[in-house]
Amino acid sequence: MISFAQAQDNLHQLCQTWLATQSDESERIALGESLGRYLSQDLTAALELPRSDISAMDGYAVYSHDRNGPVTSQVFSLKGESRAGEPYTGDPLAPGECIRIFTGAVVPASSDTVVIQENVERENEAVQMLQDTSLGANIRLRGEEIGSDAIIATTGQLITPNMIPLLASQGIAHLNVRPKLRVAFFATGDELKAAGDVLGEGDIYESNLASIAAVLRHYPVELINLGVVEDTPGAITACLHKASVDADIVISSGGVSVGDYDYVRQCVDSMGAVSDYKVAMKPGKPVCFGYIDGGESGRALFFGLPGNAVSSFVVLTELYLPVIKFLLNRERVIPTTQLEAELDADLNRRGGRLEFQRGVLTRNVDGAGDSLLRVSALGSQDSHRVLGLARANCTIKIAADVEHISAGSKVMVSVFPWTELQ
Ligand code: AMP
Ligand code: MG
Repeated sequence: MISFAQAQDNLHQLCQTWLATQSDESERIALGESLGRYLSQDLTAALELPRSDISAMDGYAVYSHDRNGPVTSQVFSLKGESRAGEPYTGDPLAPGECIRIFTGAVVPASSDTVVIQENVERENEAVQMLQDTSLGANIRLRGEEIGSDAIIATTGQLITPNMIPLLASQGIAHLNVRPKLRVAFFATGDELKAAGDVLGEGDIYESNLASIAAVLRHYPVELINLGVVEDTPGAITACLHKASVDADIVISSGGVSVGDYDYVRQCVDSMGAVSDYKVAMKPGKPVCFGYIDGGESGRALFFGLPGNAVSSFVVLTELYLPVIKFLLNRERVIPTTQLEAELDADLNRRGGRLEFQRGVLTRNVDGAGDSLLRVSALGSQDSHRVLGLARANCTIKIAADVEHISAGSKVMVSVFPWTELQ
């Protein structure tokens, strides 16, 4: 049995080796379609920002009498106006002259300061300054935020909504992004039935295929659902072969344990390689991963999930999702968000494996008004308990050698990517 950390390392290596065999292609897509995709190139600024000296306020752009100190209470004569989209086009200002200006408008090169309108008294063309304004005030200088040729986003970066104002303001209509990954997935188990089917004695409704799709649909992947496969080496081999031809990643559910009908591991082994078998994590000890040779279409990565619904979910989100993101961005492994929280009650358990207990994370405000994260473990942690999983918003990570944690201790929690904290 290997540790979870060792499994992460081995998985990372496996993915790196696989990526090295992949072409460096990228996909060119419209900005509006780019959310959630990963850049395949650095983006260089096309425009300085601001493109000219711009007024930050409504007021008067002046050429001060004395360019060594603040603009003091003197009278300026008004020469024109500059507003957003319609710059001042008159003669350059001379000392003691000013123009009316509005937020976002170009400040003429001959002006040195913008005085806000609240600090001015105006009578026709005579503009009286009521207070001192420091030299250069209220002007956003050309290139102040983004200089020419500045790198504004880097290779492998995820495109998020908060980047859109930047990208759109650069006039970017299309971007080069990493290609989508094709993920084929199937479930094994002759007891598995689809919703709507009549359940015989010992049958259960299949739930891992929907669960895998639900987790992965948030990412740029093309999902290929191959359904439930008969628990025979022949059927599983045929499915693995098809999956390895059609997809970059093949995910299986179930059949990786040591039972008489657990054929997935041996099938993968005969078609490629399985790098690891047991991982010291709970839930999810029967975990194996490796690759399948798909002949001319190259190798596909293989990620095996345990059959139990909770194990399957936890292994996918905690072990595989961080490297799936690596395969997508091709730069770095992205672990789930880890936060420190205070445990609300004593916790006892049997040690030996790194455990991911399903928990509920809440934000509380203490007497001093400080916000505090608290977490409570959700009752029984058996690996088929889907009710606890449904109520959880995180997992509490308990190191392999820890058997007792006292209430009030700090623990690390791994937050589900879609969690909205109250
Ligand atoms: P296995 O890993 O195939 O030995 O399955 C372990 C347990 O998980 C058994 O109780 C299975 O019935 C259950 N199980 C396996 N696959 C699924 C699935 N796709 N959906 C729901 N339960 C499953
Ligand atoms: Mg099975």
